[in-house]
Amino acid sequence: MSRYDFDLFVIGGGSGGVRAARIASQHGARAAITEGYRYGGTCVIRGCVPKKLMVYASRFPAEFEESTGFGWSVDGWAFDWKTLIANKDNEIARLERAYQSNLEKAGVTLFSSYARLEDEHTIRLIEDNRTVTAETILIATGGTPNVDEGLEGREHVITSNEVFHLDEMPKRIVIAGGGYIAMEFASIFAGLGAETTLIYRGPEPLRGFDDEVRAHVRGEMAQNGVNFVLGETFARIEKTGAGLIGHTSGGKVLEADQIMFAIGRKPATEGLGLDAAGVHLGDKGEIKVDAHSRTNVENIYAVGDVTDRVNLTPVAIREGHAFADSMYGGKPWLVDHSDIATAVFTTPEIGTVGLTEEQARDVLEDVIVYSASFRPMKATIGGSHGRMLMKLLVDGATDRVIGCHIVGPDAGEMAQLLGILVKMGATKADFDATIALHPSAAEELVTMRSPSRRHTK
Ligand code: FAD
Ligand code: NDP
Repeated sequence: MSRYDFDLFVIGGGSGGVRAARIASQHGARAAITEGYRYGGTCVIRGCVPKKLMVYASRFPAEFEESTGFGWSVDGWAFDWKTLIANKDNEIARLERAYQSNLEKAGVTLFSSYARLEDEHTIRLIEDNRTVTAETILIATGGTPNVDEGLEGREHVITSNEVFHLDEMPKRIVIAGGGYIAMEFASIFAGLGAETTLIYRGPEPLRGFDDEVRAHVRGEMAQNGVNFVLGETFARIEKTGAGLIGHTSGGKVLEADQIMFAIGRKPATEGLGLDAAGVHLGDKGEIKVDAHSRTNVENIYAVGDVTDRVNLTPVAIREGHAFADSMYGGKPWLVDHSDIATAVFTTPEIGTVGLTEEQARDVLEDVIVYSASFRPMKATIGGSHGRMLMKLLVDGATDRVIGCHIVGPDAGEMAQLLGILVKMGATKADFDATIALHPSAAEELVTMRSPSRRHTK
């Protein structure tokens, strides 16, 4: 009999922690998990899932407008924020229960309390006011939104934590940041009819994405009504009787009902007692781990956003699964963090996998670029202004497709499938050998014959 209460104790009931606890228990480990807020974690409770439901909601007005070109009359349509939020909350509560019951069915012991480490084997359950011990501890506490703490008026702004629970839809919103969350919520609120401004410190949002994609999506979002203030930040926020006023570094005055900060997230390690257990952090406050997700303390592991590797749900899930299989399933494996397909759920949406044109030029001697921008068929009589962008990057030396970038409807769905091809090492000749599916937007991917440009060193 082990001298510990559990073989494995997981701190954090989000994407990575839940998967690890469930699989470890199925492999026979005596596993326990604690969650301080709500089971499901960021993705389910206040991230991917409620966000995507709001994305769906935001896209109906453009559909209503386009439908008239196809002969429909949909006069008198109206939007009710409270209905959306209530229905979204019901769905999130259903998912939360499903997460808990799946853990219970797998035999995991569940706690509902924040936790802190007292030493490398002892966990204090704060709300439960007790301690438990475990042979192995997995930290899967995720991340929390950053806010500029020194900003005057900081107390008046919201983050992605609050945006899902606003009593009323803001008629005017300003969003600070230029990453995934800022761009997605700018599209959501513009689509829902709010006067929407995005303020970003750099010259072009979505740093790290392909430059042509960044310019294209910003142009499309501007046409959809998002007002971009670039090269500026907020200097101070003021609350007045009529709402909020954001004063920018360039002297602009932006009036709003809500100001949302989406300027990145930090690993959630505060108050976790990592010092007491001797766990080392990296420069950005992330828990440092090796390829097996092991920290510098032999029996303590960490997965997901708290390790700041690739901060996406499927990655946290993979890391949790690999940890559990490797530790308790007798089948060790490592997560491959390369060529992960990702989508930004702006309108229009971005779907991407592999290298950007800029990255490819840096690392390869010869890069062939195929790029096409076109009006999708639905827009012809629907009347929408939107253009799609499709881009393939090919390694001139091997003919391998090393990057695919799409902007337009269903780009995320396409990127998931293109991810398989890039992982398999498909060549441009393989794409060319594939007969088009007509009429579709995706057929462009197998009919691009003439390179747009070629970069050789
Ligand atoms: P989390 O899911 O954050 O889970 C950590 C859990 O630990 C939380 O429930 C927290 O309450 C709990 N916890 C923290 N500290 C303690 C403690 N001391 N004791 C007990 N419990 C604790 N990713 C995508 O792939 N696609 C998307 O579309 C997408 N959209 C997003 C939209 C938003 C607005 C946000 C914020 C994120 C989005 N993400 C998306 C990122 C995704 O949510 C994260 O990558 C993912 O949730 C990370 O999983 P995790 O297990 O590491 O942490
Ligand atoms: P990101 O890292 O994507 O973007 C942060 C943005 O904030 C960048 O534009 C950055 O600018 C800017 N920024 C950083 N610090 C400051 C500052 N002090 N003042 C002003 N601007 C600043 O973070 P998000 O918060 O948008 O999202 C967090 C993560 O969650 C994402 O990186 C992603 O991993 C995940 N996510 C995934 C989604 C999906 O899969 N669809 C959706 C939402 C989130 P700069 O680029 O100049 O540094």
